Amino acid sequence: MQDFTIATFYRFSPIPKDSLLDVKNKLIEKAEALQIKGLVIMGIEGINTTLAAEKNNLDNFISYVSTFEGFKDLSIKFSSAPVIPFRRFKVQIRDEIVTLNRPDLLPNEKDPSHLSPQEWNEVLKKEQDYILIDTRNWYETEVGKFKNALTPPITEFTDFPKWLETQNIPKEKKVLIYCTGGIRCEKAQVEMKEHGYNNVFQLKDGILKYLEEFPQDQFEGECFVFDHRVAVDQELKPSKVFDLCPHCGQPSKNEITCVKCDTVAKVCERCLSAEAKFETCSKNCAHHYVMNPNKKIRKHTNSISVFRDSKKLILNNTKAASNTDYK
Ligand SMILES: [Zn+2]
Ligand SMILES: [Zn+2]
Repeated sequence: MQDFTIATFYRFSPIPKDSLLDVKNKLIEKAEALQIKGLVIMGIEGINTTLAAEKNNLDNFISYVSTFEGFKDLSIKFSSAPVIPFRRFKVQIRDEIVTLNRPDLLPNEKDPSHLSPQEWNEVLKKEQDYILIDTRNWYETEVGKFKNALTPPITEFTDFPKWLETQNIPKEKKVLIYCTGGIRCEKAQVEMKEHGYNNVFQLKDGILKYLEEFPQDQFEGECFVFDHRVAVDQELKPSKVFDLCPHCGQPSKNEITCVKCDTVAKVCERCLSAEAKFETCSKNCAHHYVMNPNKKIRKHTNSISVFRDSKKLILNNTKAASNTDYK
């Protein structure tokens, strides 16, 4: 069976406030007809989305989006997966299409501070005098990052500007910033310029585009994504390493056998080292462990579909996953 295609893109281009609802309804109608799944975040700033479908249908949908005024020539990051990593199609109207609590900032996707993956590689390999900063959250950078990048201990992008101020970076210093698909850096960059940093460059279209062109190069590990794949590897395939921890919802890769029911699961290091009850496959087994540590319970069905479903459930209940900004 052929894999499904996943497309990630954004565009900062004003949509009049009074036509947002109309655009939303049109997108829903088209997505239904073409069996598109995913999440569209839209607002007066534009559109930010990750979508998945069978390739032809997805191309049709993207062509349709391109017919809206200001949405021509979208720059798209592609990947693929054997299973659609979304349950449904959803459009959310928000004040910002990527949340920094600065709806007043207007990024310019075309300004020359955007480096292509090729240009980015050249700077990383040939220059020395720069600071490289990952603008993503701590649980994302733990899964993978560019070599030698600074990784802020932030849980939300809105905390990025505050963290940056604590770093005392000279304002004229060359700063390179990157994120998953480029959109967070669009806002970070304008914000930084406002604070006097005048030598800031961003990786155009983020890690996802970089990996399309340069797998196994300057990026190490895997790239966290906000859907059921959890992360994509260097070939942009769904992660075989990471799952979401059943207890805290963060990416996890330590395989354990549940002390309660013998189901194999992946639990994060933090939980594992915190309490014995977390050496279990689920919140349910952790609960039963606390009630009666020595009594075994029946093993869970461990088929792929159940596995997928539990992943979805976890996704819906976690910090990492409740932050559904597609970046
Ligand atoms: Zn955990
Ligand atoms: Zn269990």
